Amino acid sequence: MRLNSVLVIGGGIGGLTAAIALRRKGYPVEIIEKDASWTVYGVGIIQQFNVVRAMGTLGLLEEYLAEAFGFDLTEMFAPTGQKIAEFPTPRLAGEQYPSNAGIRRTDLQRVLATRAKELGVGVRLGVTAETLADDGEGVDVGFSDGSRGRYDIVVGADGVFSRTRAQILPDAQTPRYTGQWVWRYNFPQPPDLQGIRIFTGPHSAGLVPLGKGLMYMFLLSQEEPEFRLAKEGAAAVMRSRTRGTAPQIAALAEQITDDDGVVGRPLQTVFVDGAWHKGRVVLIGDAVHACTPHLAQGAGLAIEDGVVLADELEKADDPQSAFAAFQERRFDRAKFIVVNSVRIGDSQMGKIGNLDMADLNRRTIALMAQPI
Ligand SMILES: Cc1cc2nc3c(=O)[nH]c(=O)nc-3n(C[C@H](O)[C@H](O)[C@H](O)COP(=O)(O)OP(=O)(O)OC[C@H]3O[C@@H](n4cnc5c(N)ncnc54)[C@H](O)[C@@H]3O)c2cc1C
Repeated sequence: MRLNSVLVIGGGIGGLTAAIALRRKGYPVEIIEKDASWTVYGVGIIQQFNVVRAMGTLGLLEEYLAEAFGFDLTEMFAPTGQKIAEFPTPRLAGEQYPSNAGIRRTDLQRVLATRAKELGVGVRLGVTAETLADDGEGVDVGFSDGSRGRYDIVVGADGVFSRTRAQILPDAQTPRYTGQWVWRYNFPQPPDLQGIRIFTGPHSAGLVPLGKGLMYMFLLSQEEPEFRLAKEGAAAVMRSRTRGTAPQIAALAEQITDDDGVVGRPLQTVFVDGAWHKGRVVLIGDAVHACTPHLAQGAGLAIEDGVVLADELEKADDPQSAFAAFQERRFDRAKFIVVNSVRIGDSQMGKIGNLDMADLNRRTIALMAQPI
């Protein structure tokens, strides 16, 4: 399909990836991003084999892996700290590349933003879309800075609290707090940490290598909906949440001293069960399928969305057919991740019985290794 103008709302992981994928197909793309400073926090993100494969598809693998720590092995530990399993994951980008990667969010953002700009994507910061008027032939957009524009299609990649979702699908599901927070903190990377270590149980936690001498800890806790975290004293609060964790995690607690280094977030989830598009506007990433981080696939799904959307737009005759085909290719895969991520959290909180994690891990790996 020919498109003369594409607007992407949101310059996060999904929006940037979609912009890169669309530019590679030759479509003119503009991004608007609400955050004028375009900052992301400095802790890391786990990117699994399907993401490494997608980075290859986007022609970004070398730049991306140069900033990341590649690894093949996942090790699982009981709440007592005893190792209970280890398994390698597939090398989907080619035998010469690692299966998975740990990368700082700031580094991932820089790699994606640099490539998007090199490809000619226009980026406007501190701007939102106040109005979207779709007349069937195009979308007239009124921006928060007073300017206006007309686009062939609009891609809403504005995250879990998506305003674009509320604008085009006012009756769609809205996010809910699951009852857990996740805490993250950077540490020096010990030389023997060559893969991800996951500590199971009600005080679930993990250690993720990031390279550049760093690893990060993530830690889950159950919190009341009213719980709020102040910057001052954040390190002491995170230290207190290491109580009851496996010895390997508890042993790191005394190094959690910098309030500014603590990143604590409530877990929100949403899955839009109906259409992910209306007219010439389509939603991708957390805007339609925000999962909790238990299977570490939220960003992976958003990245794959961008690749698949560009692919379907190139093949289709009109935006609606492309959007329908995009949703068809993405729906079951995204739903599996959202539903099962939430189930793991519910099981950690004792809301449902224990899950067979070995079986769930096997099924998740098999599904996410499938071609997209
Ligand atoms: C604690 C935590 C840990 C996680 N860990 C992992 C992990 O290890 N691995 C993994 O794969 N995933 C992980 N995820 C999930 C991952 O971060 C998300 O799935 C991913 O960021 C979704 O990308 P997105 O582009 O859809 O949304 P976002 O990354 O949220 O980006 C949305 C962008 O849109 C902008 N925006 C918002 N509203 C507007 C507006 N009205 N107009 C313009 N711009 C707007 C925002 O400023 C932002 O830049 C984690 C999530 C959480 C909460």
